[in-house]
Amino acid sequence: MSSSISPAKKRAKTEPDNMGETLANGKTSPWFGDQPLEQNDPDIYNIILKEKDRQRRGLELIASENFASKAVLEALGSCLNNKYSEGYPGTRYYGGTKYIDELELLCQKRALEAFGLSPDKWGVNVQPYSGSPANFAIYTALVEPHGRIMGLDLPDGGHLSHGFMTDKRKVSATSIFFESMPYKVDPKSGLINYEQLQVNAKLFHPKLIIAGISCYSRNLDYAKLREIADENNALLLADMAHVSGLVSAGLVANPFEHCDLVSSTTHKTLRGPRAGIIFFRKGVRKVLKDGKEEMYNLEKPINEAVFPGLQGGPHNHAIAGVAVALKQAMQPEFKTYASEVIANARVMAKCLMDRGYDIVTGGTDTHLLLLDLRSKNLDGNRADKVLEEISIACNKNTCPGDKSALRPSGLRFGTPALTSRNLKAEDFEKVVDFIDRGIAIALEIKAASGPLLKEFMATMATEEYQKKLAALRDEVEAFATKFPLPGKDVL
Ligand SMILES: *Cc1c(COP(=O)(O)O)cnc(C)c1O
Repeated sequence: MSSSISPAKKRAKTEPDNMGETLANGKTSPWFGDQPLEQNDPDIYNIILKEKDRQRRGLELIASENFASKAVLEALGSCLNNKYSEGYPGTRYYGGTKYIDELELLCQKRALEAFGLSPDKWGVNVQPYSGSPANFAIYTALVEPHGRIMGLDLPDGGHLSHGFMTDKRKVSATSIFFESMPYKVDPKSGLINYEQLQVNAKLFHPKLIIAGISCYSRNLDYAKLREIADENNALLLADMAHVSGLVSAGLVANPFEHCDLVSSTTHKTLRGPRAGIIFFRKGVRKVLKDGKEEMYNLEKPINEAVFPGLQGGPHNHAIAGVAVALKQAMQPEFKTYASEVIANARVMAKCLMDRGYDIVTGGTDTHLLLLDLRSKNLDGNRADKVLEEISIACNKNTCPGDKSALRPSGLRFGTPALTSRNLKAEDFEKVVDFIDRGIAIALEIKAASGPLLKEFMATMATEEYQKKLAALRDEVEAFATKFPLPGKDVL
C-alpha cells in the first residue's frame, strides 16, 4: 500500500527530518536514522494507531492476552534489539556483550526469585523466542526422534505444541517429529481423566508427560501426574504458559513442587513481552536403593537445544522486557492483581450461571472460564462473530464431548487483560450483561436465518441487525473507554 502523501509533498515534508539531529560540529545523522515513525512510515503508524484504538475501545476477554506495562513496552522498543549475542553469559560468539551478559544474568536471577526457586535446585533459560519454541527445545533436548510424549488433547484444553494430531493429519510438528498420545477430560464432568491417563501411560510408555493447559479452568493435580510419570520412568514437564503469573503470586497449584521441568510464555498472566522461558531441575534426582545418588542431567541438553540447536541470537529486547515483568511480578501490587484476576473470573462464571448459562466444570480456579452454549442451542462460531461486532473479544472453543473441532460449542473467556485495565468485580457483572445481551441478539439472528453459518452472517449483515448491534457496540465502547489502558502513551 502506498502512502497517501504524494511523492513531491513527501519530499518537502520529510527532507529536513532526513538529516536528523545536527550536532555542534555540524554533523548530522544519516538517512532516516532519527525520524519518528509517524513521518517515516505513516502507513504502519496509522495501522498501529487503529489497533491501539481497537484495544482501548473493546472489552478484551481473550484468556491468553494481556496489556503489558509502559516499562515493558519501552524495554521492547529499546536499542537492545540491535545486538547479536549468540551463546550464553560468559561464552558468547560475539564481542560487545558485556551489558547483554549483565542483562541475561539479572533476568535469570529474577526468574528464579519470582517463582521462589533456589539456584542450587533449579536453573533457567530465558532465551526461547516464545512458548512453542520453548516446548520444542525441551522435546529436542530430552526425547529422541519419534520418542513418546503425552499431553492434554487440544480439543480438551491442551495446547497445539503438545502434539496435536487428528485421524487425517499430524497438525503440530511435535506430532510429526515425536509420537504423541493425548489424554482427555471426562466428557461429563469436564475434569481431566487421570485414571485413563494412568492406564494409557502404562501401555504407551511415554518418555515425557506434559501438564499444561490453554483452556482448562481447574488446578492441575501435579502430585498425581508425578506418580504417573514415576510409574513409567517418564519426565514430567509443566507448561504453565497460561497460569505463570498466578503461580508466581502463589494463587494456583505450584508445578515446581512436583515437576522436572517447567516451561512458560511470559505474555499471558505474567504480563510481560511475547517470549518463552524454561526452568529445569539441577542436583540430585533420586537416591537409588544402593544409596547412590542419581543426578539430573537437564541443564546442558536444554541449553544446547535452545542454542545452537534451534535458535540463533537471543532477542535481547524481549529478555529485558521479561526481566522488567518479573520484577513487577514480585511486587505486592502484582499479588493483588493476580488475586483479582481469579476473583473476577469467578464473578463472571457465577453471573453467567445465575443467568442460566452452563460453565464447564461449574466454575473456575484460575483466570479463565469456558461457556458451554449447547443448552442455549447456539454454538461458539456464531456467538463469537456477534460478540466481535459489539467489540467484545473472546474466542470460540471446543467443549468436552464436542463431536467436531470445526463446530466448537463454547466460548473461552479470561480476565487478565481487563483486570490490567482495573475492572473490578462489579464491572465484570456489567461485562456479563453485555455478553448476555449479545448472545440474545445472536439467538434472534439464528432464529431469523437458515441453518448455514453463511446464512447467519448474511442475516447479521442486514440493516435491522446492524442497527441493533451498533447500538449495543456504542454502549460497550462507552463503558470500555472509561478504563485506563496500561502503556497508553507508548505506541
Ligand atoms: C500460549 C501457549 C503456548 C505457546 O505460546 P506461543 O508464545 O504462542 O508460542 C504454549 N503452551 C501453552 C499451554 C500455551 O497456552
